[in-house]
Amino acid sequence: MSEPSNPLLESVTSLKGIGTQMAERLAKLGITTVQDLLFHLPSRYQDRTRIYPIAYATIGTEVLIEGTVVFTDIIFRKRRMMLCHIEDDTARILLRFFYFSSAQQTKLSSGTKIRCFGEIRQGYQQREMIHPEYKILDEQAVEMENTLTPSYPATEGVQQRTLRRLTQEALLFTPDLEDLIPENIRQHYQLPSLQSALQTIHNPPPETVVADLLSGQHPAQKRLIFEEMMAHHLSLSQLKLQTKQLPSLAINKSDTLYQKLLAQLPFTLTGAQTRVIQELFEDMQQPSPMHRLVQGDVGSGKTLVAAAAALFAIESDLQVGLIAPTEILAEQHYQNFRDWLEPLNLEVTWVPGKKHAKQHRSSLEDLALGITDIAIGTHALFQKDVQFNQLGLIIVDEQHRFGVDQRLALREKGKQGEHYPHQLIMTATPIPRTLAMTTCADLDYSVIDELPPGRQVIKTVAIANTRRDEIITRIQAICDQGRQVYWVCTLIEESEALQCQAAEQACELLQENLPTVSIDLVHGRMNGNQKDAVMQMFKKGKTQLLVATTVIEVGVDVPNASLMIIENAERLGLSQLHQLRGRVGRGKDASSCVLLYQPPLSETAYRRINALRETGDGFEIARIDLDIRGPGEVFGTRQTGELRFRIADLMRDQHLLPQVQQASLALQQQDPNAVEKLIQRWIHRADDYVNV
Ligand code: ADP
Ligand code: MG
Repeated sequence: MSEPSNPLLESVTSLKGIGTQMAERLAKLGITTVQDLLFHLPSRYQDRTRIYPIAYATIGTEVLIEGTVVFTDIIFRKRRMMLCHIEDDTARILLRFFYFSSAQQTKLSSGTKIRCFGEIRQGYQQREMIHPEYKILDEQAVEMENTLTPSYPATEGVQQRTLRRLTQEALLFTPDLEDLIPENIRQHYQLPSLQSALQTIHNPPPETVVADLLSGQHPAQKRLIFEEMMAHHLSLSQLKLQTKQLPSLAINKSDTLYQKLLAQLPFTLTGAQTRVIQELFEDMQQPSPMHRLVQGDVGSGKTLVAAAAALFAIESDLQVGLIAPTEILAEQHYQNFRDWLEPLNLEVTWVPGKKHAKQHRSSLEDLALGITDIAIGTHALFQKDVQFNQLGLIIVDEQHRFGVDQRLALREKGKQGEHYPHQLIMTATPIPRTLAMTTCADLDYSVIDELPPGRQVIKTVAIANTRRDEIITRIQAICDQGRQVYWVCTLIEESEALQCQAAEQACELLQENLPTVSIDLVHGRMNGNQKDAVMQMFKKGKTQLLVATTVIEVGVDVPNASLMIIENAERLGLSQLHQLRGRVGRGKDASSCVLLYQPPLSETAYRRINALRETGDGFEIARIDLDIRGPGEVFGTRQTGELRFRIADLMRDQHLLPQVQQASLALQQQDPNAVEKLIQRWIHRADDYVNV
């Protein structure tokens, strides 16, 4: 809701010289208000505040120089060009122009004094500038810029000059900005005021260290980063508070079904599983909906934790919906839950996508009638036509892209009359704790930090693909022992079609070399039924060697599989390799993973492969991944669930998180009104969900 008195929220068209056409172009840059313009930060700066002696200007830098024209020539090489030689007291330099008029040539006659701005390059014989901006210096002195010149991300039809001018207009338009972070908090964290931060960023004094400004180290930029991070943190904390005020279908404090499940399991739970299950049980007894993230490394036994939560809900006559990211995974959960829950006389229903119309319809009827206790499927489970009788719990498994917006949407979709279902989100993606506290601050957070006992370390070796023969022998031996093998073909290019083709070829080749082994193939282009059929055969042990694309990356569980070969392992990221490898070592047998690579290995590929050989700990692997790839990639949208920042970079600025959390708390206590405004300023989600 814009307060008309706030100049920041006014349309850019209120600024001098912006018509509808310019406004449309600016909108392409995401700029519609004065505030947007002020928060559109420079990506570079130019220094036009001082003149460099020509001799001291280094190659590759953009500088301002001044000199006298020695002579100007037009020459013909591959094309026609004008060469203007100038000199100052220290050296000579060449200005090279490909586009020029004869008037220009005349004006650049010898003896003329000029000032140029451009990048110094190494030419054929001497240093030069190509198409510098220049000004002829006549009698009057030309003034120098007194601040660094910002250079903004631009778009077609919006020139740098325009952006600079408009930004200056915007600064003039907002002479006394309201600061949403009060003075005492600013002082405590050594943050400049918003006004002065913006002033510095758009007009940095000549002595500013540009590198600091661009890397978020400069106090002016830190101030904006800090504010944006506070806004995200506050918004999520507020969501959490709101969630706690919503009504849920609280469950009874009885766990008969769960006890029955425990009694029938062939193993006992790990301490971590028991602890997390207890946390879920307590959450679900609350009169407000649970929103909890459970993180556990591959193989830590998350499915069982989910089953326990499901039983708590079912015990109170509520239904459960479980969503998995792929059909294969959903199908596997379906099998697991049937194995575990059918002996307890519970109804487990598979909800296939609409493509299987008939099956789809009968599943839906069971759901709506309340016959179903737990429904399992992909996102098909939450399409419009799906009606539960009394949905009490939604479980989301391994959805990397499941961000806060999706959580909210799901909450609304699952609403039962006035009541909201509990939500349990499970992930194997290791998110460092501080990061989780911010990106998932709307959720409670549990970690299953223990693997079931007796898990074998997965012996990991790297072998050049020239030694395939040895591997063939190894596969034969494993299969002869009655154990099973995965052969994973990785992405050749972005194209799934090519990937599948490669898998088909690998499959044929292996069959030729291993005539007695039963081999099958699963890839992303097969439909759900086909995939399921293949997976079932593998699970039952009828197939000995499964050739697969990376569709099996998450969750697939076949304990008898004890060898995995990953082809072209050098192409995959560390976390993905870790996930893949987690498909073996799930049973009692010693397992191994062979990383086949195409030599020579690049430096980073070598480090990745080495890391896998050395550790099996998901958190450690995430840490190394971060180290190798740098922040941006690892915790891009994939792992942080689509939190989008304009200025902050969550990984680069991670060190600010503890302070951001403290400061947010302080602001909440001191000025709730400012909290609202801060969220409004930076986050455009809130409105979208109020009226879903
Ligand atoms: P993930 O956390 O990767 O989803 P799963 O839930 O698929 O792991 O569990 C991996 C395997 O470990 C399954 O075969 C499961 O039955 C088994 N498992 C789970 N908990 C235990 C336990 N406490 N002791 C032994 N095996 C367990
Ligand atoms: Mg799992």
